[in-house]
Amino acid sequence: MNRSATELPLQDQLYAYFELDQRVRAMRARLDAALRRRDAQQRKLDQLRQAGDELSAQFKTAQAHAATLENEAASIDQRVNAQRDKMNSATSNKEYSALLVEVNTLKADKSKIDDAQLDAMAKVEALTAETDGLSEKIRAQEKLVEGATREVGEAQTEVGGKLAELEAERDAAAQPLSPEIRKTFDRLSHTYDGEAMAEIIEQDRRRMEYTCGGCFTLLPVESVNALITKPDQLTTCGTCNRILYVSKDLRESLAAK
Ligand SMILES: [Zn+2]
Repeated sequence: MNRSATELPLQDQLYAYFELDQRVRAMRARLDAALRRRDAQQRKLDQLRQAGDELSAQFKTAQAHAATLENEAASIDQRVNAQRDKMNSATSNKEYSALLVEVNTLKADKSKIDDAQLDAMAKVEALTAETDGLSEKIRAQEKLVEGATREVGEAQTEVGGKLAELEAERDAAAQPLSPEIRKTFDRLSHTYDGEAMAEIIEQDRRRMEYTCGGCFTLLPVESVNALITKPDQLTTCGTCNRILYVSKDLRESLAAK
């Protein structure tokens, strides 16, 4: 254990880095999942709140419209009453008839406004019910966001310190690797979602049949031999390009042969 990392064969250096990277990824995945869940719940809440704002604007318009109609109806009532007073003091039939025509016209207008007012009131009521329903949904969604935010906090507490430690360890393990090898590793890691390396799997020792643990293709004997005899060389799968490695047990039993 006191041997410095730079003294280890390349294969072991790479595997140490790979293993730490895997652990970092697994830990980060837990945190990322919690963050994704919270973001999704927050997006839903934002959408509901936006719908709430739109509904509230509609409600205000509908209420203002209903109030305008109410004022118009009241003003027509006043005018009808005024004309009726004039009719009571009319001095001729002609004057009386003229006033009556005016009153009837006003009454017809009033009837239209009454209908419109009923429609407007119904709309206000419907919007009130809709607003209540939406408010309830928003409250429920706020609880979901709260819960998801708590889970993020828990994941951060649980993972946070350990993750930073592990990341530092992984970065230290990357130190002895050359920039070219790091580049190859990172590119494969990106392609295979963190699975830059693949273990070789023994299918049949007598017939020297080994497959790539990443893509399950049969490996040429030379690749297997290179892994055992040239631990300072990068050996990759000819099919999927993943960097191959041999488990300690298999290496020992093959070396003993
Ligand atoms: Zn492969």
